[in-house]
Amino acid sequence: MKGLSNKANAKLLDPWGRMRRGLLARLWPQQCFVCGGRAGLTVVCQACEDMLPWHDSPSCPVCALPVPDGQTCGRCLKRPPHFDATLAAFEYEHPVREMIMALKFGAAFTVSDMLISALLAVASEADDLSADIIVPMPLHRQRMAERGFNQSMELARGVGRALDLPVRAQLLVRDADTRHQAGMPLRQRIKNVRGAFRCVESIAGKRVLVIDDVMTSGATLNELARTLKLAGAAQVSNLVVARTLRSK
Ligand SMILES: [Zn+2]
Ligand SMILES: [Zn+2]
Repeated sequence: MKGLSNKANAKLLDPWGRMRRGLLARLWPQQCFVCGGRAGLTVVCQACEDMLPWHDSPSCPVCALPVPDGQTCGRCLKRPPHFDATLAAFEYEHPVREMIMALKFGAAFTVSDMLISALLAVASEADDLSADIIVPMPLHRQRMAERGFNQSMELARGVGRALDLPVRAQLLVRDADTRHQAGMPLRQRIKNVRGAFRCVESIAGKRVLVIDDVMTSGATLNELARTLKLAGAAQVSNLVVARTLRSK
């Protein structure tokens, strides 16, 4: 079973850090995000961590939807998306759904640490995840102004630091505000996001790792990948916190 405690994050293995965290946990025990019990310095207690909805069933390497044989799914074979791979840490279910909401609207930075660890856990298990740059899903400037921060940027920063990869937050501009996509049929979503992004420089030959919080239909990530490929990207992989498995 996957866990958050034994990450390939060297910082977590530092014994002094561990001692400090042990001391802090006793001084300031944190409430578990899910059950409200004692969680030490982590966001969720061990019991709740064991029940997190990890996305670990065999799934299509391209779109991360479950397929029994773990091979590229029929839909990706028939109409290959512009991205080459997708890794998702969790299924978009309770309590990850609430964690992502907290990250988006409550600027809960402790939650972001936990979600970054989950992304790193998934990335460290991937056989062929290689990237030159990290790109967070950009927010439209209006939404950025309303919310004050971009949750994907928060996650990308953490992943970039741990993997020692440059995070290129300014590489793409989101020209269209494509909110309120929920409930839209896929065809309409695709139309809705068409031309939403602009890449401000050539990234010829670069392998790009795109970080996003939730992947639903994949229409937005596909448009982002299309834009990156047009700007010369050699490969585009998505690393997302959660994947919606049923169409919602
Ligand atoms: Zn708990
Ligand atoms: Zn697929």
